[in-house]
Amino acid sequence: MRFKNNLTKTFPTRPHKNHKKRNHKKVPTRATQQSSQELRPRTASALATFCIINAACMSFLTQNAFYNRPPYIPSSDQAAYAEISTTSAQTSTPLDQFADKLDLPILVYHIVRPSYPDDSASVRAIALTPETFDAQMTYLKESGYHVVTFTDLEYYYKNKKPLSRNPIILSFDDGWKDQFQYAFPILKKHGYTATFFVFTNSIDHKSFFSLAQLKEMLAAGMIIGSHSRTHPYLTQITNQDALWREISGSKKILEDLLGVRIHEFAYPFGAYNDTIVAMAKKAGYRSARGDYFTGVQSANHLYELSAMNAPTTMDLFRKKFQPK
Ligand SMILES: [Zn+2]
Repeated sequence: MRFKNNLTKTFPTRPHKNHKKRNHKKVPTRATQQSSQELRPRTASALATFCIINAACMSFLTQNAFYNRPPYIPSSDQAAYAEISTTSAQTSTPLDQFADKLDLPILVYHIVRPSYPDDSASVRAIALTPETFDAQMTYLKESGYHVVTFTDLEYYYKNKKPLSRNPIILSFDDGWKDQFQYAFPILKKHGYTATFFVFTNSIDHKSFFSLAQLKEMLAAGMIIGSHSRTHPYLTQITNQDALWREISGSKKILEDLLGVRIHEFAYPFGAYNDTIVAMAKKAGYRSARGDYFTGVQSANHLYELSAMNAPTTMDLFRKKFQPK
């Protein structure tokens, strides 16, 4: 497909509909038993959760478009993160045997920073303070979880490469600069690798990662994935070239900027359909993160990986992730 060089800087303003069409063959699971032709969510509560999360995400993005978000106010909390441990050893034993259906939560974080008094409800719905995020990371380690990467999951399925027991994946969306300032040091302190999904038009814009920050995170062992070029609802793009630019073009831009291969894609708003999945494969991604419904993965769904928004409090986090 042709690759046209006409960047558009847009944020989604249209209502969410036609979220996802699953009409390719798949193995029914406890979590995915549904008509393959339907856009139906797995449960009513899942739909409600999905809508809340995406409404919050859309509202947040719209409110905080990179040209009009107020500048960040530095906090004295920064001092707490000045000393960064470089310990990274995670000892773990692998899963006993290969299993297609994996209970592997993929957590999605958006905002990690001190709360502002004027934060809207939509922001609070997806925001954690650095202290809460740090506590969650500590809890994972103390409760028997092992942070793995999308590549670990991919190799587990493709090559039967052993995977740690109680695996969990950490991911961050949209490339907010606050993630660099607050979450990145905490990840390094705990020796965790996370994947940061960025949409390329945001890079070097106020409130978003700079190219230098992306390179610094890469150098520290973090993974950068693509989240498209302009963060649209891909399912609402009918022009195939435009779709290709979002999916493949963003990969090429990141690879040119960073000098590394980009293997992971995250569908903006978790919205995709068969055409989009096929393009993600054709573009050369090795996996793609999809909807927000379950934590169950399977070999047939490397391009529809199931994710969940990270709980925003420790109470919710403990309830969701019982000690192993
Ligand atoms: Zn996003």
